[in-house]
Amino acid sequence: MSKKHVVVIGSGFAGLSAATHLADKGNCKVTLLEKNNSPGGRARKFEHQGFVFDMGPSWYWMPDVFETYFAHFGKKPADYYDLIRLDPSYAVIYGEQDVLDIPANLDEFKAMLEGIEPGAAANLDKFLAQAKYKYEVGIHDLVHRPSRSLFEFASPRLLLDMMRMDIFQSMSKHVRSFFRHDKIVRLMEFPVLFLGETANNIPALYSLMNYADIALGTWYPKKGMHEIIKGMVALAEEKGVTFKYDAEVEKIEVTHGTAKSLLLRSGERIEADIIVAGADYHHVDKHLLEPAYSNYSEEYWNKRVMAPSSLLFYLGVNKRLKNLRHHNLFFDEPLGPHADAIYTNPRWPEKPLFYASVPSITDPTVAPEGMENLFLLVPLAPDLEDTEAMREKYFHMILDRLEKITGQEIRSHIVFKRSYAHNDFKSDYHAFKGNAYGLANTLMQTAILKPSLKSKKVRNLYYTGQLTVPGPGVPPSLISGHVVAKEVMKENNL
Ligand SMILES: Cc1cc2nc3c(=O)[nH]c(=O)nc-3n(C[C@H](O)[C@H](O)[C@H](O)COP(=O)(O)OP(=O)(O)OC[C@H]3O[C@@H](n4cnc5c(N)ncnc54)[C@H](O)[C@@H]3O)c2cc1C
Repeated sequence: MSKKHVVVIGSGFAGLSAATHLADKGNCKVTLLEKNNSPGGRARKFEHQGFVFDMGPSWYWMPDVFETYFAHFGKKPADYYDLIRLDPSYAVIYGEQDVLDIPANLDEFKAMLEGIEPGAAANLDKFLAQAKYKYEVGIHDLVHRPSRSLFEFASPRLLLDMMRMDIFQSMSKHVRSFFRHDKIVRLMEFPVLFLGETANNIPALYSLMNYADIALGTWYPKKGMHEIIKGMVALAEEKGVTFKYDAEVEKIEVTHGTAKSLLLRSGERIEADIIVAGADYHHVDKHLLEPAYSNYSEEYWNKRVMAPSSLLFYLGVNKRLKNLRHHNLFFDEPLGPHADAIYTNPRWPEKPLFYASVPSITDPTVAPEGMENLFLLVPLAPDLEDTEAMREKYFHMILDRLEKITGQEIRSHIVFKRSYAHNDFKSDYHAFKGNAYGLANTLMQTAILKPSLKSKKVRNLYYTGQLTVPGPGVPPSLISGHVVAKEVMKENNL
């Protein structure tokens, strides 16, 4: 009998992970279809006259998840890229002359906290002990569950574990029960911003992110984050995955509840026995399927809390910059009004917080000699009106602050500039409302409360990626691909 044909849509981290696991362990033929002309999805890269820009992720956290990923195939990250641990991990800029360099070393980190708030070092030990426990149960167990039924969680040991994990307390309250000083509170609340909501609406379970930050460290793959994608593609090809680029799926053709084929924009039709959709869930659910086969209504989707979109600038600067680190968080304005503009009353924020990454500080290969690669990110509400004029306004707003706080002229040294926001997320990735990071990890959007990884109406259609379990971010997307691949193999005897 010929092998079953599994077609994976999308070459982001989740699609690549699903395809590689299936090709490795499943008795099947795997084809991966990608609408763009290069792999990686939100983690693509582009180059311009010696500048090499990572288009999306820049923080390499949870190195153990990457090690586990490659170990499934008898490999290690070092077979594909070289990692460096950053020290300082990052800088937090609270204002002019008010900058905290976050040391990689735990004892130095504790000493820094103690200097800000007496007693904070001892409290950090207690805080981190809990966070470590949550990391171990959360990342090594919970996130690997397909979350299709409550019964998956119905073991006494696990229920006990979950009670200890502060699922019903907010991260904000949790942090404040250990620390009082505003600077420390903001520092401890920062990692959950990666999960697409503020600490008020993220369960304290996610202090596991602080463990990832403080204990496991911030790493950087030499030549940039896209090296991970390059490694994953090489591995997928080694396992026999066939890649097709410029292969945008326009329709999933379903007969009597079974997907039979995919129709591409080019007019080509590809037969499939099983489909794993790693493109944005909403796009597949509402645009690639006939309405009768979609899992969720438009009303359902409109009620989801999406993680933010972003305004990005990729800048080439023709001189070296001072007073900046590899990662820089500009917390020189209060978070409250910006969070309100993202989550409560969606609008362009009056005084945005922003993030600046300068990977050329660590890595001379990403900018021409004597120059700097500067990436700026302003988190924004999804679905805002995105115009050139607005992008320019914000460019000048943040450049004013960047120049003032770091004490240098930057604008006149910019030799390359590209902006990226909602309209690009929509046109490049079919991102629902132009989201950057998928669906927020709020309590009501956790585990079985997330859009399901299995279609309820099409028996051979599965979903993976940052809008389903376990959630947004590179490590969860890698895990999502593995979780769905296991489900596909189990249910289809592959
Ligand atoms: C600006 C930015 C910064 C980020 N920073 C970090 C960070 O520092 N650290 C971190 O861990 N995470 C970060 N993230 C989040 C992380 O990048 C994502 O969670 C992850 O890359 C999502 O992977 P995915 O596979 O789910 O989706 P995607 O990467 O979006 O992959 C989906 C793929 O499907 C393709 N596709 C869509 N429609 C079709 C179609 N019809 N036919 C064929 N193909 C289609 C798309 O082109 C895309 O390649 C960041 C994201 C962004 C945008």
